[in-house]
Amino acid sequence: MSEIRKFKTESKRLLDLMINSIYTNREIFLRELISNASDAIDKYHYLSLTDDKLEKNKEYEILIIPDKDNRTITISDNGIGMTYDELNESLGTIAKSGSQEFIQKISNNNDEIDINIIGQFGVGFYSAFMVAKKVIVETRSPYSDKGYSFISEGEETYEINEIEKDDVGTKITLYLRSNTEDVDYDEFLEEYKIRRLVKKYSDYIRYPIKMLVSENEYDDAGNVVRTNKVWHTLNSMIPIWKKSKNEVSDEELNEFYKKKFFDYQDPLVSIYLNVEGQLTYSALIFIPKKPPFNLYSERYEKGLELYSKGVFIMEKCKELVPDYLRFIRGLVDSSDLPLNISREMLQHTKDIEKIANNLEKKVLSRLENMLKNEREKYIEFFENYGVNIKFGVYDQFGAKRDLLKDLLIFKTTNCDHYVTLAEYVEKMPENQQYIYYAQGKNKQTVLAMPQMDLIKKQGFDVLVLTDDVDEFALNMLEKYQDKPFKNITQGELDLLDQEEKEHIAKLEEEKKDLISKLKEILTGKIDDVKLSRRLVDSPVCLVSGEGVSLEMEKVISSLPHNEKVTATKILEINPNHELFKALETVYQNSPDELEMYADVLYSQALLMEGFTLENPMDFANKLSKLIIKSTK
Ligand code: ADP
Repeated sequence: MSEIRKFKTESKRLLDLMINSIYTNREIFLRELISNASDAIDKYHYLSLTDDKLEKNKEYEILIIPDKDNRTITISDNGIGMTYDELNESLGTIAKSGSQEFIQKISNNNDEIDINIIGQFGVGFYSAFMVAKKVIVETRSPYSDKGYSFISEGEETYEINEIEKDDVGTKITLYLRSNTEDVDYDEFLEEYKIRRLVKKYSDYIRYPIKMLVSENEYDDAGNVVRTNKVWHTLNSMIPIWKKSKNEVSDEELNEFYKKKFFDYQDPLVSIYLNVEGQLTYSALIFIPKKPPFNLYSERYEKGLELYSKGVFIMEKCKELVPDYLRFIRGLVDSSDLPLNISREMLQHTKDIEKIANNLEKKVLSRLENMLKNEREKYIEFFENYGVNIKFGVYDQFGAKRDLLKDLLIFKTTNCDHYVTLAEYVEKMPENQQYIYYAQGKNKQTVLAMPQMDLIKKQGFDVLVLTDDVDEFALNMLEKYQDKPFKNITQGELDLLDQEEKEHIAKLEEEKKDLISKLKEILTGKIDDVKLSRRLVDSPVCLVSGEGVSLEMEKVISSLPHNEKVTATKILEINPNHELFKALETVYQNSPDELEMYADVLYSQALLMEGFTLENPMDFANKLSKLIIKSTK
């Protein structure tokens, strides 16, 4: 029997992609083929437990045979093999969801392929075409009397033939492409190269990966008398976390992470722990370079993989990870946990709690260390995950605040880099009592705020808060090294000297009629009108009383199902500004118009604070009237 069949469209696309790929990481083809072989052996083994037709206690192995003369490399396994139908289904179409998704992604990109995304997916069998111009698969399933071959040269069609094959399993022969100026495909025939690739990508595969190696026999004079072919096992078969720490290189850890968690970038941080003592366990923890795209969605599940004595128990053990570290990935293998542990039991297992606490400490101390010694890297971490740390400060009524406060960094108005709270406090001049902060898009927006007038004059630094959670976290902290936090748009700033204070108090007494008139006009909109003790150049500003700030009001009211909270709103007027004098004149000469002026001022203050106006038309009309009036 021999037939020619056509590839399914999406398979052909993937194939073309592999063939034309300028992908530099061609070497992963070996990893992909080995892991297919290992899966096939897993399947055989699993079925043999219940099916008497299959061999029990089979000696499983994966063989690699490089052949320099013919420029081929062959990978064979004694796993489950494929029947005729399976062969067509598996290799003629794309079976796996990962590959489907991959195709989807490249299709969405209108053929502009970001080659980096290849590594994100197990692209499996087709990756063979990154190095081969022709691939022959010979396979036999225990459920088929016959063996079949599949031959493809990466064209529209592939060929299937019936073949003689005595043993069950699959053998894949790659006919390497011709070398080019840029790529030396012969490299993949070299023993040292294959050894290295297996070590790097497939060391912890549970079955022996053997390579047929030439070994010379010498006579006493040192001449080669014979060359023997012998099998060498290339992989240690020990899961990476069962090795001792000094046996595991950073490169190995990174490769393990990428393979296991389908990432194409090295992790930002990897932590490897072997703990012995009251509790014995190993843990591998990674912080991905970029947060998973769904980290903040409700569907995201935090957790680490859990193993007991090397046997997999569950994929996401959430008890091992506090909420604020939900972005970490990794696994824990303990010899102290029962194998039959259930989800319900986990919550009551003291051991899990102890492991979780220890892991949390380890992650935090690694972060502290990074902050101290690798500032750039820490900033990268913080820009990606800082929100989570701030959330941790605020969460659980501040239970973790002391643990986390030194991990916070902020941009400030006086410098262009991040500072820690300790660094901020250290630089505070003696006459500065508070740690000032303001919410704003960036340093420039904060510097432009009217509430900054006096602070700028004093030269004090102000933390620039950019995330919604920031102010909630600082409120939870209350103070740092005995210095209370102070929102520059809230309460009194306390920056005037005695003489200035007395001056304003006196003015307030003198102008009390005007002030109470303004208050009356703005009743229902604001809670108070005051002469400002913080403005220098700006005419007015809106501030809030102690408690809920204006920003917090905005954040809370934007949350779904949240009870309404409102900040106490105070309109502050700069008594030294021309505008105040203008108001006085209006009040004296045409008191009826004061309402219009007051409304415009109030709306201005609202706009500067980033609130929306309830009635923008009204504001625009009033402003127009004033402009016209000013020209008459
Ligand atoms: P996957 O990511 O599913 O492994 P591949 O393209 O690598 O995708 O392989 C497609 C399918 O082909 C596999 O799911 C499996 O059913 C079959 N297959 C591939 N290699 C082997 C093999 N060595 N032995 C048996 N079946 C295999």
